[in-house]
Amino acid sequence: MNYIQQAMEIARGTNCAGDTTFFQAIEEVLTSIKPFIKKNPEYIEHNIIERIICPNREIRFKIEWLDDKNRIHVNNGYRIQFNNALGPYKGGVRFHPSVNPDILKFLAFEQIFKNAITGLHIGGAKGGADFDPKGKSDQEIMKFCQAFMTAFYNSIGEDIDILGGDIGVGEREVGYLFGQYKMLTNSYDSIITSKPIALGGSEGRSSATGYGLVYFTQTLLEDMGETLKGKICTISGSGNVAIHAIEKLYDIGAIPVTCSDSKGTIHDPNGIDLALLKEIKLEQRASLELYAEEKKTATYVKREEYQGGSYVWDIPCFAAFPCATQNELGEESAQKLIDNDVKIIAEGANMPTTTQGIELFMKNDIIFAPAKAANAGGVAVSVLEMSQNSAFNYWSPEEIDQKLQEIMSKIYRDIKKTCDEYNLDMDLAAGANILGFKRVAKAMVAQGV
Ligand code: NDP
Repeated sequence: MNYIQQAMEIARGTNCAGDTTFFQAIEEVLTSIKPFIKKNPEYIEHNIIERIICPNREIRFKIEWLDDKNRIHVNNGYRIQFNNALGPYKGGVRFHPSVNPDILKFLAFEQIFKNAITGLHIGGAKGGADFDPKGKSDQEIMKFCQAFMTAFYNSIGEDIDILGGDIGVGEREVGYLFGQYKMLTNSYDSIITSKPIALGGSEGRSSATGYGLVYFTQTLLEDMGETLKGKICTISGSGNVAIHAIEKLYDIGAIPVTCSDSKGTIHDPNGIDLALLKEIKLEQRASLELYAEEKKTATYVKREEYQGGSYVWDIPCFAAFPCATQNELGEESAQKLIDNDVKIIAEGANMPTTTQGIELFMKNDIIFAPAKAANAGGVAVSVLEMSQNSAFNYWSPEEIDQKLQEIMSKIYRDIKKTCDEYNLDMDLAAGANILGFKRVAKAMVAQGV
């Protein structure tokens, strides 16, 4: 058995016992770094794989909070401080009932390599709670955020571990988390990014992941003599990433025709009405069903009435952008996209495509832009926010946008160079994995055991 297979067995047995999503993420990375290990066998002596797939620390804590009727609730909170070889731990916080150690370990593991790919000096982490923000009042959200921070604040710090947003954690929640940290420590340390502008947040942070996704895709397509301009695009999700991806697609002249949420999908063949979408999802925090009631050109398909994946992937398109959640685009949906002549898949969410889906895209020569690269704009601008905070500096939206475009373009060039070096053609997923792995492994070796 070779070294990588051996490490995979260890992962399957010890690290991931029962953690199927975490193992999926490990398997995807380890499979694609084979050419790197073959070319650099010295990493075997350092037993680098076994070390890199094991989280440094897994923190679990209890969160007790009071609802508006003074009833006491208990939730589970977690932080996976996975790897800090390149810099302090950095990664978002997710509030969703599906949060568990398996999901967070997969997200933290992915975050290590994504952060490394940006070329910035940050490690990888992820955290969250199995709390459902849906249907909660502002007051209840605030109380939960305060209880979350109180239970866990002594494990973080601006040089130790810096939090951020993710599913269910936007500017409002980040503001409350930050406020509570400040109260508890009497400091204004930048222990969380994606802050509201009023608290020192970066001008372009809320839009950075979605905008960065489109910049990355456009750079890649231009390199191939193509463009998104005038092309039909399908997007899943209707949260932070999806909304800003739709906004930027319009800016560059593309036609985004779908969006979705946990209850169903909207297809609006004339193009998604962005103002209406923002009103429903950001202001009212309501279901997309309202969109179809307002807009007669749109079709609404309820998730419970649809068999097999998501209706988003039934719609013919040039480019598909999964921007909702992990494993939302499976084999069956991938086949539909291929049958409808899709040209490119660009991942806005983390690991939204299943292993079988990716294999099918690769087999059919569909360009595949992996999340680790395509959605790295968010964390890159988070580091700009940290940098502004520590220097008491301010950058305008235009300056941030310019920096974001440069970062996304550099990420693409670095990955393409890695693909060329390892004869990977346009296997950008493998190129991204090798690039990220190489940077982290080098830093680990340099620090000794
Ligand atoms: P939001 O909470 O803003 O939006 C999430 C969207 O996905 C909502 O439309 C939600 O529907 C939908 N959704 C969530 N869970 C499910 C599910 N199980 N099935 C179907 N739909 C679901 O999150 P973000 O936009 O911030 O995050 C989306 C993805 O992007 C995640 O994978 C996240 O990890 C990733 N990401 C986010 C970054 C960021 O900067 N925010 C950075 C990098 C990656 P509903 O409205 O009904 O809840």
